[in-house]
Amino acid sequence: MAELEQLELDVQGMTCDSCALHVTKALESVAGVQNARVPGWESGRAQVTADGDVAAEELAAAVQSAGYKARVANRKPLQSATQASGSPDGEYDLMVIGGGSAGFAAAIKGAELGQRVALVEAGTIGGTCVNVGCVPSKTLIRAMEQYHLAGSHPFRGVHTTAGHLSWSQVLDQKDKLVADMRQSRYVDVLAAYPEVTYLQGHARLTGGNGVEIDGQAYAPGTVVIATGARPWAPPISGLAEAGYLTSTTAMDLRERPDSLVVLGANAVGLELAQTFARAGTTVTLVELLPRIAPFEDEEISEALTDYLQAEGMRIVTGVTTEHVERQGGRTYLTGRQGGNEVVLEAERLLVATGRRPNTTEMGLEEAGIRLGSRGELLVNDRLQTDNPAVYAAGDVLGKDMFVYVAAYGGTLAAENALTGAGRLYDTSAIPRVTFTDPQIASAGLTEAQAATEGYDVRVSVLPMAQVPRALAAHDTRGLIKLVVDRETDRLLGAHVLAPEAGEIIQTAVLALRFGLTTKQLRETMFPYLTNVEGFKLAVLALEKDVSLLSCCAG
Ligand SMILES: Cc1cc2nc3c(=O)[nH]c(=O)nc-3n(C[C@H](O)[C@H](O)[C@H](O)COP(=O)(O)OP(=O)(O)OC[C@H]3O[C@@H](n4cnc5c(N)ncnc54)[C@H](O)[C@@H]3O)c2cc1C
Repeated sequence: MAELEQLELDVQGMTCDSCALHVTKALESVAGVQNARVPGWESGRAQVTADGDVAAEELAAAVQSAGYKARVANRKPLQSATQASGSPDGEYDLMVIGGGSAGFAAAIKGAELGQRVALVEAGTIGGTCVNVGCVPSKTLIRAMEQYHLAGSHPFRGVHTTAGHLSWSQVLDQKDKLVADMRQSRYVDVLAAYPEVTYLQGHARLTGGNGVEIDGQAYAPGTVVIATGARPWAPPISGLAEAGYLTSTTAMDLRERPDSLVVLGANAVGLELAQTFARAGTTVTLVELLPRIAPFEDEEISEALTDYLQAEGMRIVTGVTTEHVERQGGRTYLTGRQGGNEVVLEAERLLVATGRRPNTTEMGLEEAGIRLGSRGELLVNDRLQTDNPAVYAAGDVLGKDMFVYVAAYGGTLAAENALTGAGRLYDTSAIPRVTFTDPQIASAGLTEAQAATEGYDVRVSVLPMAQVPRALAAHDTRGLIKLVVDRETDRLLGAHVLAPEAGEIIQTAVLALRFGLTTKQLRETMFPYLTNVEGFKLAVLALEKDVSLLSCCAG
């Protein structure tokens, strides 16, 4: 087989997504083409990986037969890093370290590019999201939401008798879902990519492009590090001796504790605090900063505090924890709030104070890779580390710890590593969802951040009580807040607290990503009776009193 090449074609005549699909299919039908893609029909381009003996005319003819015009603008050898680095064994073009979401995305991209890929995993295939993150937490949250709804719900005025809760059955159901999804989304997916070899073991770098897996040396062409992060606890006196739960161990507790102190009121702490509280555990939520959900907009934090307190949760903020102690089967947390000492106690303590990247014992410094102060891998805006043969993606970067960011980064890192495409890692419009009930969903700048960045803003705050869908559901908890740049009329940030707010925020993400103005949003129709209509109402509220509208946002 001839050496692989990367070709870029100018394509004329594409006017829609279907055109992009037709062009892709036409290119893929040419013998010797390994992979073709159109990065959006508007780009007027197609990218092809093909054997070096595929003629430019053949590609142009295939596109023409589909009804479009094309010419090869650029062709270069696919940078098989094996060749680039002179790999002595030449076994793998790409070695991906970490078999979680970022790692899988990177490995699949490598396979799609026709490269030989090794995917190395030290622990359980699938990593955090499916095993100990998104999947188990969201199914437990949903189960407790249903259980809570079946009981006395203060906001809907519905009073039914709560059914009997079997915590251990809920855990069994969660374990089954995790096992099923690990199989279908990871093990079976891997089997569909014969180009990917799965290696079980702990990888460390040995300099240049060298990697050692449990004593065995490899020299892959290029490396993507996707080793994720793990729960982190602050250095509090007595904490290690007293013992504590993490998000991982809390979701595996076969015996539900009667009482729980949750330290840390960011997404993971909030979600688990409400889950246990709704299951019947007495929960005290403790936060170092002055408010819960401290990185969200202030109005959102305040409203959520009220809802959680109304469900019976105790919330203590502005607490510096000084000491933790275990005595007589109970854990005591001593701290300072203002000038005063506070002592909080419970059967168990859950520490949810963040996650730190997995970068220790990996030979990173020896391989010329710099780490930040929290152990995060430092990369450039193309996800390349200081070592040109090594890229990185996912939670190991120490920020934006969401599974879709990990998958996006993994794909991009592999493409840049293997093809030299130099694609930019764009995190300008990341949605953030905290799965409390009501959910927090946000994207872009808060009002305070916009002010810090020097924007002159207009702000709209719409209570969910103004949204017909919320009224029809007899659940008007929450609000929608929009932050708009006065000068350009563009949306800068959206912050939603509402049931299923995650479904509303995607409209804001599109508006942010494509720079939509509030005028354009006003001129767009939103369906009645939906929660997302609230987004349109919040836009209209910038100009008028929406309580004076008759039926809908129009
Ligand atoms: C409780 C909880 C709930 C969450 N909920 C959500 C949610 O609802 N939505 C969302 O988007 N995100 C959620 N997240 C975050 C999401 O799970 C992570 O952002 C995502 O899984 C990170 O993927 P990753 O591939 O970067 O890392 P991981 O999935 O952590 O994968 C890294 C893998 O690398 C392996 N590894 C580490 N070191 C080595 C080594 N030296 N050699 C070989 N292998 C190694 C590890 O064993 C691990 O399997 C949640 C996280 C938690 C903890």
